Amino acid sequence: RESTTSHRRPVNHGATGRVPVSVSRRRIRTVVTGGAGFVGSHLVDKLMARGDEVIVVDNFFTGRKENVVHYLENPRFELIRHDVVEPILLEVDQIYHLACPASPVHYNLKYLNCLLNSYDYKTNVMGTLNMLGLAKRVKARFLITSTSEVYGDPLEHPQKETYWGHVNPIGVRSCYDEGKRTAETLTMDYHRNEGVEVRIARIFNTYGPRMCLEDGRVVSNFVSQAIRKQPMTVYGDGKQTRSFQYVSDLVDGLMALMEGDHVGPFNLGNPGEFTMLELAQVVRETIDANASIEFKDNTADDPQKRKPDISKAKELLNWEPKVTLREGLPLMASDFRDRILKEIEGDDDK
Ligand code: NAD
Ligand code: UDP
Ligand code: UDP
Repeated sequence: RESTTSHRRPVNHGATGRVPVSVSRRRIRTVVTGGAGFVGSHLVDKLMARGDEVIVVDNFFTGRKENVVHYLENPRFELIRHDVVEPILLEVDQIYHLACPASPVHYNLKYLNCLLNSYDYKTNVMGTLNMLGLAKRVKARFLITSTSEVYGDPLEHPQKETYWGHVNPIGVRSCYDEGKRTAETLTMDYHRNEGVEVRIARIFNTYGPRMCLEDGRVVSNFVSQAIRKQPMTVYGDGKQTRSFQYVSDLVDGLMALMEGDHVGPFNLGNPGEFTMLELAQVVRETIDANASIEFKDNTADDPQKRKPDISKAKELLNWEPKVTLREGLPLMASDFRDRILKEIEGDDDK
């Protein structure tokens, strides 16, 4: 049985001596590592709207200042360029730890493979350790964004949180999935041994506005290819499946998890399951009816199917996704169209 926290620890407010705020909804000081990235910046939007003081810690490896630029003048907001592999001193109440090079292009770049793989693993291990050390020192609550990749190429379908996974420890994806598995291990160690309040989210494939255009993940690839009138690249036979979650649903889930009383892990994903060929078809229906398909070789160790069992999150967090793929894709496409247009205009200026 998973452990739960029966009471909240007193919050250390550093030198300010302010009254505890984690229960009363007054100004919570929250740090979001990776907050200039895709998911992080949407989370920051919601935390800022709630009235938190938000510190984003990001090294801009894949994140962009543009994603949070609208807060730079806001006195409740701070942006720190910092690599979480290095220690950092902050006084905060909550830590959302998202920092991680997360997309396949970034951890598989042909020529930088070794360097980036070790960097990815290092971020997951050293970065998570530092954030847990910080959480321990200031008695902050710590949430880690783990991933459905901890289930590997699953032998159980759909995946429940109780499944231990089927992961190749020495493959090209290991830096990411084993990195996250280690991060979960560290998180539970700090919880059990150091009394840190922790939360673990296992995120399934998520899409939405602000994803990197050249991210390499399937939804961003298909959408930008359809907008640029290029063929959508289907890897392998396209029969492998994934479940796609819209980013606002994920942010709601992460906050419900942080505010709730359960450690987790919790699957956060949309159980709607699609083959890559079906995904291409939905892109045709919602973005461009004439979009074509081009088949390419698949990558090594590609999981053949993935779909979350979210009964635990439904029951204990009272959370479930609301946005369907057909509703979410057009929202993402309008952001992608604007950015692709800007890119083309930028090229014309040269
Ligand atoms: P992203 O690449 O847009 O965001 C990651 C952010 O972390 C970027 O802003 C990047 O610059 C920053 N970062 C990377 N390494 C860093 C370091 N060493 N120090 C400081 N900052 C660093 O990716 P995302 O999709 O927003 O992912 C956010 C989190 O959610 C990641 O932990 C990822 O593993 C997890 N996740 C995402 C998905 C998904 O489908 N988007 C699925 C499963 C898990
Ligand atoms: N750490 C940090 N900020 C803090 C406290 C700790 O970055 O406010 C780092 C610290 O440098 C160490 C890691 O977190 O590398 C783990 O800290 P912990 O105190 O648990 O371990 P120790 O330093 O005792 O090995
Ligand atoms: N994929 C694809 N075309 C692309 C990019 C990815 O068919 O242009 C496939 C990939 O082989 C995988 C699935 O889409 O089977 C999801 O890949 P992604 O990298 O988005 O996520 P992950 O594999 O991490 O779940």
